[in-house]
Parts: sequence; structure tokens; C-alpha cells
Amino acid sequence: MRYAILADIHGNLEALQAVIEEIECDGPLNGIWCVGDLVGYGPNPNECIQLIRRYPNVCVLGNHDAAAVGLASIDDFNLEAATACRWTTSELSEENRLFLDGLPERAEVDTFTLVHGSPQYPLWEYLYSAKRASRNFRYFSSPCCLVGHTHVPLIFSLDGQSSSEGGGDSLYPLTALTGESRMILNPGSVGQPRDGDPRAAYAVYNSECQQIEYKRTWYDMTPTQKKMLEAGLPSSLAMRLSYGR
Ligand code: ZN
Repeated sequence: MRYAILADIHGNLEALQAVIEEIECDGPLNGIWCVGDLVGYGPNPNECIQLIRRYPNVCVLGNHDAAAVGLASIDDFNLEAATACRWTTSELSEENRLFLDGLPERAEVDTFTLVHGSPQYPLWEYLYSAKRASRNFRYFSSPCCLVGHTHVPLIFSLDGQSSSEGGGDSLYPLTALTGESRMILNPGSVGQPRDGDPRAAYAVYNSECQQIEYKRTWYDMTPTQKKMLEAGLPSSLAMRLSYGR
């Protein structure tokens, strides 16, 4: 079985469609596991939720999802994020609002725990460093944990008591074997990458060989940016898609 591991889609429909198309080019997609932030920033929150829901899915709540439906405050958001959040709230259909409102902060599937930020603080903690990640291994019991939130693809593996990290270009092409050590994996962001590479980032898990492959795909972001500007979303949010920052 093949599962898409997606994070931080942020209402970017063109990126999400490109990722799903690419995965399906290589064979059937049996389900989508999404570690939060389906909405916020991008111009198509409803369409992204609907596309994910066409597949068997396991999704957890991200901080932008929570804020969009009033489960978290936007006080900690910067001006652009807060503006986009208010816009998203006004756009969400009742059905999609209820979907986000019902998402758990943590889920378990196969050999994975899913959270948005970190196992210790699912909504808000950013796992950028091996030091911070190492503290988090005690907050989940499954072999692996999938996270998002930083918009940067990373892998932390637990070796004894310490964890090491791998990221950036060294991840591509990368195949992580989940049976080998305990890991915290971040596939990077579908809809707003921040590692300097504007291509949509994601990972595919093959359960037969217990293999996770990190991938990037190009998509035409011109329509996404045009829709953002037309909707009155901050232009800096549209521009940053071009740079992957
Ligand atoms: Zn995010």
C-alpha cells in the first residue's frame, strides 16, 4: 500500500493537485496522512479539504486550522498570517469548518504517530534541531512520528539517547527505512516550502517495504498567486511562493 505523507498544504490547490498527480503516476494512492495546516495563507481552503477527503485519510489539526475555526487564538500570528486566517475563516464552508473542528491534535496509524508541531506540544512547537527532537522521543511510543509546522523537510533518528538530523539537499533522493531506528520525520510543506526550494515537498510511504521516499514536484504557481492577490491576501504571501522562503 502507498500513502502520501503531506504537511502544511495551506490552501494551495495547485501544489496539492500536482503532488497527488505525481504520486498517482507511479501507482495507486491508498490514502493520505496529513499532519496539519490544510488551510491558512492560500486561496483555496475549501477545495484543498475536499480533495483530501476524496481519499481515505488521517488528518491532524494544525495551528492554522485551529485558528481558522476558533480553536486557537491568532494573537501569536504575524500580521500576514492573521490577515490570511481571518480571510480563511470567512471563506470556509460550514461542512469544511466542521471537518477542521473535529480533527484530533494527535493520531496513530500503522507504525506512526501524527502531530503537527511536536509530540510534546502538538500545535505549537517547532522541531528544527536534533536537541529539541531528542527530548520529544519520549512523548510518543510508536516507532515513528510524522510532523510538519516548520515547512522544512527533516529527519531526526534516535541513536541511543541522542538524535541526529538530516535535511536540505541531502534528503533528495532519500529513502528512510522505518524499521531501522525510531524517527521523527517532516516531509516539508506542500503549499509553502521554506527551505529555499519553491517546489512542493512531500513524502510517500510504501508499507510493504517500510520505505519513506522524500520527493519534490514543480507546479505552476502563477494561478495560485493571482488568486491570492485577487482575494486581497497579503502580496508578500503570494511572492514568497516563488522563492520557497
Ligand atoms: Zn504551516
